[in-house]
Amino acid sequence: LAVNPAQICDRTINLTPEQQHYLHRVLRLNQGDKFIAMDGRGHWWLAVLEAQETGLIASITEEIAVNRELGVEVTLMAALPKGNGFDEVVRQATELGVASIVPVTSDRTLLKPSAQKVDRWKRITAEAAEQSERQFVPTILEPISFDLAVKDCGQKYRYICVARGDNRHLWDCLISLEPPQPPLVRGEQELEPPQPPLVRGEQEFDPAFVGAVPPCPPPGGELSIVIAIGPEGGWTDGEVKRAIEFGFEPVSLGSRILRAVTAPIVALSLVGAAFEK
Ligand code: SAH
Repeated sequence: LAVNPAQICDRTINLTPEQQHYLHRVLRLNQGDKFIAMDGRGHWWLAVLEAQETGLIASITEEIAVNRELGVEVTLMAALPKGNGFDEVVRQATELGVASIVPVTSDRTLLKPSAQKVDRWKRITAEAAEQSERQFVPTILEPISFDLAVKDCGQKYRYICVARGDNRHLWDCLISLEPPQPPLVRGEQELEPPQPPLVRGEQEFDPAFVGAVPPCPPPGGELSIVIAIGPEGGWTDGEVKRAIEFGFEPVSLGSRILRAVTAPIVALSLVGAAFEK
């Protein structure tokens, strides 16, 4: 169940009437039943349902340490496709582990989306993050022009997907990036970076890693990348040129021309393949 941090006080979750209805009527949970609550900001809890005169509340019994986030913080900068195509892009990008999405208007994008559309994307991404059991709900930024987006872009590694042309494949770029390594433990040989121990039984847990493996690390750690995907009509040559001026590398997603709604899925799947733990 997705909850707002403001609903939590003294390890009690004050459930809204809608949440009570969902847990009790839809999921058929009763007093004493357990469920998982998450705040979309990295925390997961095991909670138990309790009945009070005023209705149902939930008590947090324990915090659950999970990490389903990618080993890289990936931003999708996507030109808005026609109609409602962006809904699916937002949903699928969330399932694939995106950290933030920047909807951009481009030379070949006609419409600037309404505030209602942006709100809908935020709802879709929250739902998708919940169903994918992610700790973090991706950020949907306000739509912005492509030129401004490339100028303000803070990510370290920048790629612009260009259909046609003989650019380097995104995959080859990704696998040449250095994945973040856990810090070395004192006394260990520098040649072999240590792997965090498996936390299966208590005995295998190494206290030296307590500080190195926080319960809710920021997604991706230090490695941040941005991938720009164009609209149905593609980027204009001018846009590609301007992006390159701001440090974007033009990349290929393969020999076939993908639809604007397919290309983000392919790009993010490659990121997952390259960085999934
Ligand atoms: N109509 C354009 C293609 C647009 S495809 C043409 O015929 O050239 C929409 C967007 O998806 C492109 O702007 C690009 O960012 C991405 N894309 C699709 N296929 C791609 C490929 N094979 N390699 C890299 N990017 C691709």
